[in-house]
Amino acid sequence: MRIDTNYINNPHFFDVLIIGAGPAGLTAALYAQRANLKVAFFEKDTPGGKVVKTSVVENYPGFKTVSGPDLALNFFQQASSIGAKFIYGEVTNISKLNEIFHVTTSDGMVRYSKVVIIASGMTERKLNIPGEIEYYGKGVSYCAICDAAIYKNKPVAVIGGGNTALEESLYLADICSKVYLIHRRQGFRAEEVIISKVKQHKNIQLILDAVPLSFDGDGKKITGLTYENVIDKKQGKISIDCVFPFIGFLPVNNFFEKLNIKNENNGFVDVDSNFQTKIVGLYCVGDVVNKNIRQISTAINDGTIAAVHAKKYIDEHFEK
Ligand code: NAP
Repeated sequence: MRIDTNYINNPHFFDVLIIGAGPAGLTAALYAQRANLKVAFFEKDTPGGKVVKTSVVENYPGFKTVSGPDLALNFFQQASSIGAKFIYGEVTNISKLNEIFHVTTSDGMVRYSKVVIIASGMTERKLNIPGEIEYYGKGVSYCAICDAAIYKNKPVAVIGGGNTALEESLYLADICSKVYLIHRRQGFRAEEVIISKVKQHKNIQLILDAVPLSFDGDGKKITGLTYENVIDKKQGKISIDCVFPFIGFLPVNNFFEKLNIKNENNGFVDVDSNFQTKIVGLYCVGDVVNKNIRQISTAINDGTIAAVHAKKYIDEHFEK
């Protein structure tokens, strides 16, 4: 396809626009940039995605243990140092007109591209209980590595039974005086190696078969929480200075509502084996993809495959 000269002469026209700068998006940026494409990536938060908020990563091959923020910074620096352009901003819409994508940000600006790779990830699922919104930032936190130091030698609680809740409990247990881990059943979703570390940690007290009912405070900050045993319905209270709900994530899909690429049942995006959506030239990678395993390693896999396929698509589809 011959590209209209209005696009070619526009400084805001790219080969590839990537939305989201987590491991999947930054890997796509790295591979696309190394393929000599003109690449930019958008991020509305700190680049690095969920890895930035992860205290320690122990299952990223090549690193026995690495700090999440350090790993995220390396991903970001590697992609940007070779020329992929970082655009700080929130994407609010994507449309496709005459084979070219139009990507709009919240400031009203529009950028154009031959390919778009969505790597928007997921956002924290909320408990939706009294006190959760009221005390956000005043003893309700969704980031242990960001806030643990504030609660040094203080009691805290973690809600959830997945990898995030258990890993962050371990991190908090070495800083805070006590960690109450509240989970709604006896079994955990987390990896066995993490479960066993949690069970052995003397600073972590498990409260199982329990759900939080409210986060309680004095109006200015949290002072405790009320929970209920799901079996005998008995209620209990604990005094804490901070609570960290880690009960999973929801896909960030609001800005591409009109494209109709979401899976009807769960809101994640269906893709083919090249991570292309049902719209040609539109790819989706990382945690927002409809898939079973969400790891840094799988995000990197997705970003690599999408970028390599995108290069092939651009070469075959557009005139040089
Ligand atoms: P997750 O695996 O979805 O676990 C969410 C946990 O929250 C579950 O234990 C769930 O209980 C509980 N939960 C959900 N809704 C709840 C509610 N309304 N009230 C109380 N509890 C509730 O989420 P995640 O731990 O954040 O992990 C997300 C993904 O990232 C997973 O694929 C995970 O493997 C991956 N991850 C991997 C690593 C790693 O490998 N190092 C680290 C972090 C995350 P039930 O179990 O009863 O459903």
